[in-house]
Amino acid sequence: MKEPCHLENIEPHKLAQHQSKLTGHLPFSDFVRVEELAFSSAANVDDESDEGSASPKSDVHYELAFGYDENRQAICSGHVKVNMGLQCQRCMNRVDHQVDSDFVFAFVKTDEQAAQLPRSYEPVMFDGYAVNLREALEDEILLALPAFPAHDDGDCELAVATASAESTNEKPSPFAGLTELLKK
Ligand SMILES: [Zn+2]
Repeated sequence: MKEPCHLENIEPHKLAQHQSKLTGHLPFSDFVRVEELAFSSAANVDDESDEGSASPKSDVHYELAFGYDENRQAICSGHVKVNMGLQCQRCMNRVDHQVDSDFVFAFVKTDEQAAQLPRSYEPVMFDGYAVNLREALEDEILLALPAFPAHDDGDCELAVATASAESTNEKPSPFAGLTELLKK
């Protein structure tokens, strides 16, 4: 049994036949598209300040289990986990975020095959031989990131200000108009 040293050239059928399990971690910097969305790269325009570790990023941890389902579809049940910083879209400061995501990849060669998969599967296109699973993991992380990253209300500088402003501001009930309509 040899351990693959990285995930960029994975042979799904070979691993599925052996019901192989792969666990390990990769440096965050291998995930360039995710790194672009991380807080530090967005804020630190000059690369020289890179050493100040105000924004620790963890490695990307993964657990992958290969096999076939009852339809002889090659699949990979997996888990990916990474801690990173995102930019809060309310106060623009760093907000810590943990991606902790389960998935089932199904390896398919055509769009038709992909369309026939159960909804719980995520299709990963491959040539029937090898696949870059690091790319697939990166897609999975990107999917798991919030569209609107923000602090919890109590932790966000801006949210505190907004909340207190709102409480002193008397707003008409959104149902006021509805009540009028119901009277008719
Ligand atoms: Zn915030």
